[in-house]
Amino acid sequence: MLEIEGLSAHYGPVRALSEVNLKVEEGSITAILGANGAGKTTLLRVISGLVRASGGRVTAFGEDITAMPTDRIARSGVAHVPEGGGVIPELTVEENLRLGALWRPDRADRARALDEVLELFPPLAPRRSKAAGTLSGGERQMLAIGRGLMGRPRMLLLDEPSLGLAPLVAAKIMAVLRDLRADTGLTVLLVEQNARSALSISDYGFVLGLGEVVASDDAATLLADDQLRHAYLGF
Ligand code: ATP
Repeated sequence: MLEIEGLSAHYGPVRALSEVNLKVEEGSITAILGANGAGKTTLLRVISGLVRASGGRVTAFGEDITAMPTDRIARSGVAHVPEGGGVIPELTVEENLRLGALWRPDRADRARALDEVLELFPPLAPRRSKAAGTLSGGERQMLAIGRGLMGRPRMLLLDEPSLGLAPLVAAKIMAVLRDLRADTGLTVLLVEQNARSALSISDYGFVLGLGEVVASDDAATLLADDQLRHAYLGF
């Protein structure tokens, strides 16, 4: 479904990713873990075309997307929910959601997607006419994920969805993702600093350290690896 081979990325002279190899199976939740500055955000940005690779290849759904413009990557079925969610606080919940499907030509289809997303996230429905800035942190993250789903993606890239949330709220977001995958078969690539909670819902995990993959395995195996946990995962 997603295959990354020998991927490198630079910001000027700074090398953020170095020869990264990674695979995401269809219908899986795959976690990308690692400390601050390990290259997790850069990896998602390269996949969605916001940062250009300086070497290597990204293949999604059998197609080479390495040099594709961002809008075409989005249309091919990859939705990117950036760190912090990127919702627009002055717009209403519904307006934010509609932004996620602007490019879909069929108005009836857009309306159906809106109903589906509001059903998926019950706290959002009664607030659909409220400004997004009035939502709690957890609701705002749900809105960001919902907006990503409005384009009916095949794969969701999520950058630190639990960042800044209270532990119980963060757990709720993880449960939402787990249920979403179970109900829809959506493929999720989940970047998290909170390794324990990410691995608790993931099938597979990759650990990045200074732009390189330092470990990859089944989530349960990574969770059980004390040395790796202490060295790279911080718990
Ligand atoms: P975080 O959790 O802090 O977002 P991360 O694992 O997502 O960390 P990246 O944000 O991908 O890591 O950063 C990887 C490296 O690239 C770091 O050394 C960082 O300082 C550098 N970097 C990231 N963005 C830029 C930028 N816009 N310009 C220059 N260097 C950058």
